[in-house]
Amino acid sequence: MKGGVITERDTEYCTIRLRIPAGVVSLRQLRGIADVAESYGVDSVHLTTRQTIEIPHMPPSRLDSLSGDLLANGTPVGSERDEVVNVIACPGLERCIFANIDSITLAKEIDARLFGKEMPVKMRISISGCPNACTSPMLNEIGIIGQIRPVRVPGMCTGCGTCMEFCKEEAIAIRQGASVLDPSRCVECGTCIRSCPYDLLKASGEHYLITVGGRRGRHPKLGREFLAVKSRESVIAVVEKIVTWVYRRAWSGRLLSDQMDELQFEKFREEIREIIPNEDRIDEESGRSDVSAGTSI
Ligand code: SF4
Ligand code: SF4
Ligand code: SF4
Repeated sequence: MKGGVITERDTEYCTIRLRIPAGVVSLRQLRGIADVAESYGVDSVHLTTRQTIEIPHMPPSRLDSLSGDLLANGTPVGSERDEVVNVIACPGLERCIFANIDSITLAKEIDARLFGKEMPVKMRISISGCPNACTSPMLNEIGIIGQIRPVRVPGMCTGCGTCMEFCKEEAIAIRQGASVLDPSRCVECGTCIRSCPYDLLKASGEHYLITVGGRRGRHPKLGREFLAVKSRESVIAVVEKIVTWVYRRAWSGRLLSDQMDELQFEKFREEIREIIPNEDRIDEESGRSDVSAGTSI
């Protein structure tokens, strides 16, 4: 039941799910996976929704030797069931024009600390570099989204409206010849910052929004907003606290999303807020009022 070994419909066989943090494998590892699978008589593998690879149709008697071969290839047997499972990430700053954070590096760091930890519930962690949320972070037990607040250099706007055109949320208007932001509509994607032809829009308050308690499946649920922090170190520390909180308090046999109130999620959130240094914490309300105070777009 553990460690990425999944019994198939034909119970004589198992599917082996690999550990591939952020879904990144080198070409050497990819060839290695193909060679290993082939040497066990398998002619195809399956790419999963959690950015990993499954090798099907393995007889249980061969699992020990397969496990050793996969470990030697740097792509060991992964996890499944009630554990911290493969951490997924979008391309983020490595490639994506919309990205606000380095999703892949963060996913690898979290994986290195938490992967495979035995839990009372399955813990899925997903990271997206911006609110486009390509990896659906809010549908995971822990989601992380890179956000940025726009601020305009005071008094310099030409009122050209380019930023307004680029904002898909209709959060920007041109009033009295200058851009004005409606913070209640802004999702902090940062697109407008890159659009200003005069480079008047600057990133302010880059941060990681952390959500807890989402899920996919037959009754999907969005995770609840937990905290927004500025540094990668803080986001890792907070994720570790969340995992410890779930490990100590959650009941097995039920999804995390179904027991958030019993686990006193709000109280836990307040406790964690206290331990994040002020300078590393984004206060949702005060941050937004800064933006609307006329110092920005
Ligand atoms: S979530 Fe944003 S940064 Fe990540 S791939 Fe999608 S658009 Fe790019
Ligand atoms: S950061 Fe806000 S204002 Fe700028 S494009 Fe995104 S939603 Fe629009
Ligand atoms: S902030 Fe830049 S893009 Fe937006 S209206 Fe002013 S000059 Fe144009």
